[in-house]
Amino acid sequence: MKLADLHIHTTFSDGIYTPEEIVQQAMAVPLTAIAITDHDNVEGYKATAAYIAQENLALDLLPGVEIDTFYGDIDVHVLGYYLNPEEPKLLEALAWTRQGRAGRIANIVKKINELGFPLTMEEVLEEAKGSKSYGRPHIARVMVKKGYFKDVQGVFDALIAKGKPAYCRQEKLTPDEAVDLLHGAGALACLAHPSEIGDRAIAEKILTSSPFDALEVWHPSALADKETDYWLALACMYQLLTAGGSDYHGNGGRFPTALGEFKVTYEDVKGLVEYKK
Ligand code: AMP
Ligand code: FE
Ligand code: FE
Ligand code: ZN
Repeated sequence: MKLADLHIHTTFSDGIYTPEEIVQQAMAVPLTAIAITDHDNVEGYKATAAYIAQENLALDLLPGVEIDTFYGDIDVHVLGYYLNPEEPKLLEALAWTRQGRAGRIANIVKKINELGFPLTMEEVLEEAKGSKSYGRPHIARVMVKKGYFKDVQGVFDALIAKGKPAYCRQEKLTPDEAVDLLHGAGALACLAHPSEIGDRAIAEKILTSSPFDALEVWHPSALADKETDYWLALACMYQLLTAGGSDYHGNGGRFPTALGEFKVTYEDVKGLVEYKK
């Protein structure tokens, strides 16, 4: 059975493996098609494409990105596939979001200090070395290394998940703006992990409020209560392409600990993978 994984993070955002390591792991599974979907940047995709070309590997790679947006105060992630990675307007918007991420990280560090945990921006930047897009997992990993918490999940649950004392909001695009930017860059726009929105009716509202092309049906957050069947039916109803991936970051917790552990068949995402063929 051919497998695919269209949702993978690298060290260019908040993943712990480099593009080269991701490609080696994908070849070992083996996966037939992958997409690098780093948060708010396309550099990880470019580095992955360069490595696959250099090594002349038989691995299908889709250009990808995962854009952070807010729908009111609901976090909505928008995946883009087959974008032109040089499109100026898209790159400008991603740079703006990344700048917001850097500011937000500084605010979170300040709050964590106020809560009595010594932590410096330097330590976080060292942890995020090489990243073009800082995220809360970088902070969480330092907190674990410093021995304050057992694992990354523990830091989120106690301090930095939404509603927790060190959580900070950041200005972001709307889903509609992200979809528009992606379309302007020749990409397909996909609503990411709808189960994480937490309410099916709201997810459907978001899905239908913007001209999405695809829905991420298969994702580790959609295992309970036949969630996947529900999203598949919704994608079918709105005639959307279906996407799926592990959201692999390299560290365990809410996402798989190894590539290939969360299985998505190539057949299930074939329409998307072969869209530009
Ligand atoms: P940020 O990009 O700073 O908003 O952080 C989002 C990232 O943190 C996600 O892509 C996950 O990698 C991770 N994450 C978000 N929420 C949680 C949570 N509740 N528990 C563990 N990891 C999380
Ligand atoms: Fe992430
Ligand atoms: Fe996401
Ligand atoms: Zn992701």
